[in-house]
Amino acid sequence: MHKQLFIPGPVDVRSDVLEKMATPMIGHRGSECTELQKSISGKMQQVFQTENVIVLSTSSGSGLMESAIRCCSAKKAAVFSIGAFGDRWYKMAIANGKAADKFRKEDGQATTAEEVEKALATGEYDLITVTHNETSSGVMNPVGEIGEVVKKYPDVIFCIDAVSSMGGVDIPVDKWGVDFAITSTQKCLGLPPGMSIASVSEKAYQRAKTVSNRGLYFDIVEIYDKVMKNYQYPSTPSLSHMFALDYQLDNILKEGLENRWARHAQMAEYVRNWASKYFALFSDPAHLSNTVTCIANNRGISVADLNKELGKRGMQISNGYGDLKEKTFRIAHMADATMDDVVKVTNAINEILNL
Ligand SMILES: *Cc1c(COP(=O)(O)O)cnc(C)c1O
Repeated sequence: MHKQLFIPGPVDVRSDVLEKMATPMIGHRGSECTELQKSISGKMQQVFQTENVIVLSTSSGSGLMESAIRCCSAKKAAVFSIGAFGDRWYKMAIANGKAADKFRKEDGQATTAEEVEKALATGEYDLITVTHNETSSGVMNPVGEIGEVVKKYPDVIFCIDAVSSMGGVDIPVDKWGVDFAITSTQKCLGLPPGMSIASVSEKAYQRAKTVSNRGLYFDIVEIYDKVMKNYQYPSTPSLSHMFALDYQLDNILKEGLENRWARHAQMAEYVRNWASKYFALFSDPAHLSNTVTCIANNRGISVADLNKELGKRGMQISNGYGDLKEKTFRIAHMADATMDDVVKVTNAINEILNL
């Protein structure tokens, strides 16, 4: 039996989108492929609210996160982390031999514009990374406010991890001055895992050209140049994802971005209210995510057992991430999930736990 997924990626994929993954192949160096990638780029620019170049990578989101920090910092990077995924971006910097400092908040807290200002005022950094939506704690950072600070430092490349939020919440990339915004297919966009998408500013591209040892597969200069030349990809892309992505973007734009954000906000509000009534919210209430809710396990239930029981009913939620396992659990409300779905899963939890 298929279990309906309430985990923060991979998400359930509509059957019509899954079918598009089975489209017969085309040559990746022909005009048909150029048209396909061009079509994806145009629609994706609407989702990202940007005029920057859209790049694709046949990798999960981590691939372009690694690309951003490796290729676009020539001096030193400031990594603002509020959880597991921020920590991973710092690990990527170190693993690639880059100079980087990590600014870590406690789990459940957000990065503030003041903290970013303080770090940038030292003049030590030429790139910063911020997690827009930290999936381990269900916190959404105030990236718009942070963007206002970064605008005062024109030499700084502003990178955001929007892996678990792009397509589910309002992220005006150009208005916020984001140079490198990254997402993956398997979260709010509602596709199978395997492709990463980013918007890259001319400024980030120019910086990358000055950086040596950018690697090859994730060299953003090579990927960007190929898009500029003919909307193709340096190696063989996952064409299956591209067919499905082009199609799913039509679904997303048909729903309307504002409607999509509103649906996510409504599901989030419902799950938060439920969580506050029967458990407690884990994170700072001023910075809660609209795509995933992290719930404090203040009743001391066995989350693993709960998930087993949910499994028998054809549903799956997420245990806490890393050290937060069993101390928290998470319910994702992203991509094409509906109010009916989140009502169904919370009702099932109430029934299992006799709440
Ligand atoms: C899932 C996730 C990632 C990792 O993305 P992959 O596509 O699995 O590589 C990074 N950051 C956040 C916030 C995520 O939720």
